[in-house]
Amino acid sequence: MQTETYRQLDRDHHLHPFTDFKALGEEGSRIVTHAEGIYIHDSEGNRILDAMAGLWCVNLGYGRQELVEAATAQLHELPYYNNFFKSTHPPAVKLAEALCRLAPAHMNRVFFTGSGSEANDTMLRMVRRYWALEGKPDKQWVIARENAYHGSTVAGMSLGGMAPMHAQGGPTVPRITHVRQPYWFGEGRPAGQDPETFGRDCAAALEAKIQELGEENVAAFIAEPVQGAGGAIIPPESYWPAVKEVLARYDILLVVDEVICGFGRLGEWFGSVHYDLEPDLMPIAKGLSSGYLPIGGVLVGDRVAETLIERGGEFFHGFTYSGHPVCAAVALQNLELMQAEGIVERVRDDVGPYLAERWATLADHPMVGEARSLGLIGALELVDPATGERFPKPLGAGTLCRDICLDLGLVMRSVGDTMIISPPLIITRAEIDELVSLAGEALDETA
Ligand code: PLP
Repeated sequence: MQTETYRQLDRDHHLHPFTDFKALGEEGSRIVTHAEGIYIHDSEGNRILDAMAGLWCVNLGYGRQELVEAATAQLHELPYYNNFFKSTHPPAVKLAEALCRLAPAHMNRVFFTGSGSEANDTMLRMVRRYWALEGKPDKQWVIARENAYHGSTVAGMSLGGMAPMHAQGGPTVPRITHVRQPYWFGEGRPAGQDPETFGRDCAAALEAKIQELGEENVAAFIAEPVQGAGGAIIPPESYWPAVKEVLARYDILLVVDEVICGFGRLGEWFGSVHYDLEPDLMPIAKGLSSGYLPIGGVLVGDRVAETLIERGGEFFHGFTYSGHPVCAAVALQNLELMQAEGIVERVRDDVGPYLAERWATLADHPMVGEARSLGLIGALELVDPATGERFPKPLGAGTLCRDICLDLGLVMRSVGDTMIISPPLIITRAEIDELVSLAGEALDETA
C-alpha cells in the first residue's frame, strides 16, 4: 500500500491517543514500517534515531530475535490461558519468580496486569483494601504529585496530576489529592531558593498535606522516582531523603511507580534502588517486556501482601490478560537477556555517565536553560536565546524543535518547552554522539 493510501485510511478511521484528531487529519501521520536497534524507518525511506525507545519502553532495542522466538514458541505451546481462580501456566509462574528475585528483598509477590495504567488501578484497590483489612477504613486518601503521570484509565488519570487530563475526563476518583512536584526549573527557579532548599520544601509540602488531611485518613503517597511524562524531572538531591524522613514519621504506604524508571532506566533494576527507597508497592510495565508485548503488574511488599493473603478473602479484581502467557514468556526472555548482557550495569557504569558528559555540553547552547540527565533519561529546557528565560505561554519552541528533530532524523519528545530523551538501553557511545550532535543541530535550527 502506498504512503498516501495509509494516510487517508488513517484519517478516515483511526483515532490516535493523545492527539488532536482534527489536526492529524490535516497533517497526516508518519507511517512507521520497520525498525532495528535504536532506529525506526518510515514509509518514505527515512531512518530515524529513536531517542524515546518508542514510549520509554523498547529498552533492548528493536529486532531482538530472541524475543520474537520466545513469543513464537509460546504461541505454539499455549497462546492463551488465564490465571483466574486456581489455574496458572509456566510463563506466569516463572516470570513472577524472576521479578521477585530482581525486586528489593521485601517484595515477594506480583499481581499481573496488561499495562501500567491497569497496574495503578490495581495498586489503588490494593492500598484501600489493605487499610480496610487493617481495621482503618478511613485511610482512603492517596497523595500524588502535580504533573505526575500514572496512566490513562480513570484511576490512572486521577492519580496523575495532569490538569488538562482532569479537565477532560469528567469526575476523578474521590479522595486523591496532589502536592507540589520537585521541579525546580519548571516551577520558575523560585527566587532565593537553590534546588536543594526547594527539594526540602517540596517534601515539607507533603508533610503539610498529611497533617491537613489527618494521618488517620491517608492511605499512601505515590510518586515516580524521576517524573517521566511530566518532563524527565530529576528531583534535587535533597528531595527523596527528605521525603523518606517525612514518611518515617507517619504510618502511610509508599507507592513508587516504576513504569518508566524500572528495568534499568536509571542504572539500577528499579528507580527505588537508585534512591534507596523501600516501597510498599511498585507498579511496573513498559521495560518489563521491552515493549514487545503489553504487560504490567504490581510488585507487592510483604507487609501489604501478608494482610491481603491472610485476611483478605477473594480479591474481586483482575483482567482477562493478567499474566498472559505469550506476554509473560517475552517478558521473562527480556529479563534473562538483560541479565546475560549486563544491561543495567552498562547503563550505570558506562553509557549513563557517558550520556551525562555529552548531554551537559548542550547546556552551553543559547536555547538551553538547563540540560539534565540520569542514567538514560534526560531533558533540555528550552529558553528564549534573547533573554535566557522561558518562553511566555502559550508560545514556545518545543513543538518546532520536535519537528525539526524529526526532519533531521531524531525522535525527541517535547513536553511544552522541555525536550526529552529516553533511548533504548542498548545505545552505544557512538550512537550517543550521533544523538547529541543531532540535538545540537536541531537547537541551532530552532534558534
Ligand atoms: N505510570 C507511568 C510512570 C507512566 O509513565 C505510564 C505511561 O507512560 C503509565 C503509568 C501508564 O502506563 P500504560 O501506558 O502502559 O498504561
